[in-house]
Amino acid sequence: MHLSRFPRTRLAHLPTPLEPMPRLSRELGIDLWIKRDDCTWLSTGGNKTRKLEFLMAEAEAEGADMVMTQGATQSNHARQTAAAAARLGMGCHILLEDRTGYNNANYNNNGNVLLDHLHGATTEKFPGGTDMVAEMERAAEKKRAEGRKVYVIPGGGSNPTGALGYVNCAIELLAQANEAGLVIDRIVHATGSSGTQAGLVTGLCAMNAGIPVLGIGTRAPREKQEQMVYDLACRTAEKLGCPGVVGREDVVANSDYVGQGYGLPTDAGIEAIRMFSELEGILLDPVYSAKGASGLIDLARKGEFAGQTVVFLHTGGSVGLFGYDFAFDHADRWVSL
Ligand SMILES: *Cc1c(COP(=O)(O)O)cnc(C)c1O
Repeated sequence: MHLSRFPRTRLAHLPTPLEPMPRLSRELGIDLWIKRDDCTWLSTGGNKTRKLEFLMAEAEAEGADMVMTQGATQSNHARQTAAAAARLGMGCHILLEDRTGYNNANYNNNGNVLLDHLHGATTEKFPGGTDMVAEMERAAEKKRAEGRKVYVIPGGGSNPTGALGYVNCAIELLAQANEAGLVIDRIVHATGSSGTQAGLVTGLCAMNAGIPVLGIGTRAPREKQEQMVYDLACRTAEKLGCPGVVGREDVVANSDYVGQGYGLPTDAGIEAIRMFSELEGILLDPVYSAKGASGLIDLARKGEFAGQTVVFLHTGGSVGLFGYDFAFDHADRWVSL
């Protein structure tokens, strides 16, 4: 495995910090650290920026003058793609699927949507259940007919090129652990379109690190999620020149914390947001990292990580809080002394 063989455009502030969480550790009875990929820092940061380093390099190599991608209304991936395009002087068009049906003004125009527009991207809305891949092809063809050179990025940036960003994270995290003399027993993070877990697992397996990864699902049932991650990990390993390095048993997901569905906050997720922000000053988001953290919290309380050093990979997304303000009751914080 030799990652620098692949073209890469620097967009992230790396390495992201690996920080101990003493107050959360005490609360949960484990040794908890956070890998701060919420601090990759392109337009407030998040996990998509690592993927975009490889995706945008490919777009530039192909001579693209415009990128197109798709996601849910409050997509963090869309926002980071819009920022990357702005930085590289490319146009950006984003297809947004209404997966929640929320009529709320903040949900539809604040948070990530506001930042998409501030970065100069155009957005187009589609009802939930639309074939977004077909719509994106149609939109790309339309722009190509107008003479644009369009590079299409799949939802979440999850293909073998994007997953290289998380192979890079695996290398970075292992180097930090080695440097700090830290033995990591488990990595836990929120998984969605699968590129993060696929890249991470591929990188760790290729280095024979022996660190199990647990992806907490945010949309699909466990079996489907694991298959998606495994398929992409196999393709990523092939691209890296180490085919077959990932075993099916290396891919583990838990979809018990999805709740009513993608993008719909859960009570346990809201509790996780309050715990992380009140105990450590760390912001999570209701769609991904809070559900991931709610799985971490619940499993820690059930003794699953007893005596272990656990790294929670923080995938970002806190800008989404401003699109979900209605999910929080905080009137009791206004007081009169
Ligand atoms: C996209 C995203 C994830 C999921 O990562 P995938 O690579 O799509 O599985 C997790 N957390 C946040 C904040 C995200 O935006």
